[in-house]
Amino acid sequence: MLETLTIRTQRTTASRLALLDPENLEFGKTFTDHMFVVDYCDGEWQEPQIVPYGDITVSPANSALHYGQAIFEGMKAYKNEQGDIAVFRPEDNLRRLNASAERMCMPAVPEELFMQGLLQLIKLDAEWVPNTQGTSLYIRPFMFATDGMLGVRPSDTYRFMIITCPVGAFYNKALRVRFEEKYVRSAEGGAGYAKNAGNYGASMYPTKLAQQEGYNQLLWTDASEHRYIEESGTMNVAFVIGGKLITPALSTSILDGITRRSVLQLARDWGMTVEERKVSAVEVLDALAAGTLEEAFGVGTAATIAPIAVIGYQGQDHTLPTTGPQAFSRRVSDALTAIRTGAAPDTHGWMVQV
Ligand code: PMP
Repeated sequence: MLETLTIRTQRTTASRLALLDPENLEFGKTFTDHMFVVDYCDGEWQEPQIVPYGDITVSPANSALHYGQAIFEGMKAYKNEQGDIAVFRPEDNLRRLNASAERMCMPAVPEELFMQGLLQLIKLDAEWVPNTQGTSLYIRPFMFATDGMLGVRPSDTYRFMIITCPVGAFYNKALRVRFEEKYVRSAEGGAGYAKNAGNYGASMYPTKLAQQEGYNQLLWTDASEHRYIEESGTMNVAFVIGGKLITPALSTSILDGITRRSVLQLARDWGMTVEERKVSAVEVLDALAAGTLEEAFGVGTAATIAPIAVIGYQGQDHTLPTTGPQAFSRRVSDALTAIRTGAAPDTHGWMVQV
């Protein structure tokens, strides 16, 4: 099934590869030579294509621009020392994309279209995938409404695309975060579990306020009481308290992160107790005061693991213990890197070869 899909491919005649400076990659600014595009109309996905990366035109009445039917995904491909390329858990991203699509009244993307689009695009732009330590190819699949019509109703037509960018090593400087006590990222029953564009647009203002106060990002809390922790910035969040890995349980207000899922799996493989449940701000600060809070960190595709150094709460900053090389967050980050780069066996079948 997967091998049979033919994708009409128009190769670029003006590759920008020679201009690539792998030592200076600013996240999300440099795109590879090609992109994958497929339109949806008359209730069906049309002929998929790979074309040179470039601008697209939309109607000024494009309904995604007005009413936000726009969703996306983020994942990475890695090149090993032999030059082989593999993508980390792309089927999980497809499932999440389709969960987002359902929530936003958009059509599902069939597996062969997604996987073949992805794999053929990466193969064509293989030389763009960096292979020095910590680098990867960031992959951004996305879908948006394309009806040029100002009615507030689901669009009849959509476009699904994949663009990719080489990204450099992520500098994991420990974060200063603060509990959000006024604004919310999402609420139970809302669309927080979906990766729709509006969630990100709405998070920028409260994040800006926190940044003006000297924090890097927020620890989002629940919408009704601002009591329970949900996520950190655009990452899931986890704590090591008394030797146990504790993370907020998934709900309609939390994104089901693929890094989160992978970190929990490795912790369980290693015999660690994992608790997915409500975690309150008070519990974390009490554990810190009692000396049982060992680690706090964000988990997501961009950073894999982002350790938290300081937590602000009700106007006061609380400094977390520093972590050494034996810390769980370090070990799990190294273990994921080893699986992704082929240095450790992929026992869970997470890598899809290009
Ligand atoms: N939460 C939010 C809101 C995010 O945008 C992301 C990034 N996709 C995550 C969590 C982490 O998810 P993943 O591990 O799949 O990147």
